[in-house]
Amino acid sequence: MTESINVVLIGGGYSGVMAANRLTQRADVAVTLVNPRPEFVERVRLHQLVGRTHDAVRDFREVLAESVRLVIDTVTRIDAAECALELASGGTISYDYLVYAVGSDKAAARVPGAAEFARTMASLEDARELRAVVDSLPAAAPITVVGGGPLGIEMAAELGERGRAVTLVCGGQLGPYLHPSGRRSVAKALARLGVRVLDGPGAKVVEVTAEAVRLADGRELASAVTIWAAGFAASDLAARSGLSVDVVGRLLADETLTSVDDERIVATGDAASPSGMPLRMSCQAALPLGSHAADTVLSRIAGESPAEFTRGIAAMCVSLGRSAGVFQLARFDDTAIRLHVPGRPGAVLKEAACASPIDQLAKEAHKPGSHSWIVKDSRRVERVAAQRAAGLVVSGRAG
Ligand SMILES: Cc1cc2nc3c(=O)[nH]c(=O)nc-3n(C[C@H](O)[C@H](O)[C@H](O)COP(=O)(O)OP(=O)(O)OC[C@H]3O[C@@H](n4cnc5c(N)ncnc54)[C@H](O)[C@@H]3O)c2cc1C
Repeated sequence: MTESINVVLIGGGYSGVMAANRLTQRADVAVTLVNPRPEFVERVRLHQLVGRTHDAVRDFREVLAESVRLVIDTVTRIDAAECALELASGGTISYDYLVYAVGSDKAAARVPGAAEFARTMASLEDARELRAVVDSLPAAAPITVVGGGPLGIEMAAELGERGRAVTLVCGGQLGPYLHPSGRRSVAKALARLGVRVLDGPGAKVVEVTAEAVRLADGRELASAVTIWAAGFAASDLAARSGLSVDVVGRLLADETLTSVDDERIVATGDAASPSGMPLRMSCQAALPLGSHAADTVLSRIAGESPAEFTRGIAAMCVSLGRSAGVFQLARFDDTAIRLHVPGRPGAVLKEAACASPIDQLAKEAHKPGSHSWIVKDSRRVERVAAQRAAGLVVSGRAG
């Protein structure tokens, strides 16, 4: 009997599950997924969990192929020399190939008091705690959301719609990704929900206390709970394991998504930094990255040269409570254009964008190899070529 090839994935989020499902194409590949919790987290709905409009979890079996072995544990170290993973439970798992799909978590706030007093909704556990805190507050208690990106906008809108007294402190511009016309639609919708928006250079939080936030321009806002929604940070697992990472700690890979240190390790999702030019941390990018990561591993197993990643993302959907949204269209290199869909149609599109990843994962679980992605980022290909010519980018790994 021939022995199976062991492919182990760390992280059962959008990207890890997509890759795990796709890897089941080969009967001689044993796929193991290590994830800290027994349920799949719909991270894109964690602000809804806080606002009590969704529980943001699914049974893994709705999205994960039956033949994938699910191990509920946390990887504490990757021993690349031994091709083994150390687990929090004390055990180890060995692999022939490893897919690094640990996603992202809350950004470490360097602002004094933020680590101590601010809360986040970047993980299931944090979002559940935040919901309990919000629920325990009197209806009129002031809530401050910090971060003018999609995370902060969605969180502020969700709570504003519930009648909460919310101030959104942007730390600069409201929705920096958005086209000015999309930004105006977001601002109007937030105003309708009663969310006070503070933007501009002075609207930067410089200190958080148990009951207030202080801004760069000297203003002090009463804040019964401060929610830090100013982006994500990478896990330090790769760096702790001695693997090369980019400046924010994502695993440094080439354009096939293979680690620059080790041909047996492939990175995907929020945790991957191909050529040090990562895609925007997003569910949108996590799915095509996940299927490409699986294809890279399958190519190596087949003794073929893996292809380079050329897919792109071309939109941002922002929910503004349950009855409005903005669907901001973008070029294939992920820069916003004037065209956007606001209001209720925007909310319908946003809901479809949140539901679609679950459908895509379920489809790949039942029909591995079927996932496809039409958006091609030809500018990425040009940028990588230019950087390579300048000797700045790691070259693709052959075979
Ligand atoms: C409130 C909110 C709203 C969002 N809205 C959108 C949106 O509208 N559109 C969009 O495109 N993106 C959105 N995002 C971002 C999106 O959720 C992430 O970019 C996406 O989840 C990344 O997928 P991933 O598979 O790389 O990582 P994740 O989904 O984060 O999954 C990673 C998994 O790895 C596990 N893990 C981590 N470390 C270990 C370890 N050491 N051992 C084992 N397992 C580990 C984690 O617990 C997790 O289950 C939103 C995020 C949040 C928080």
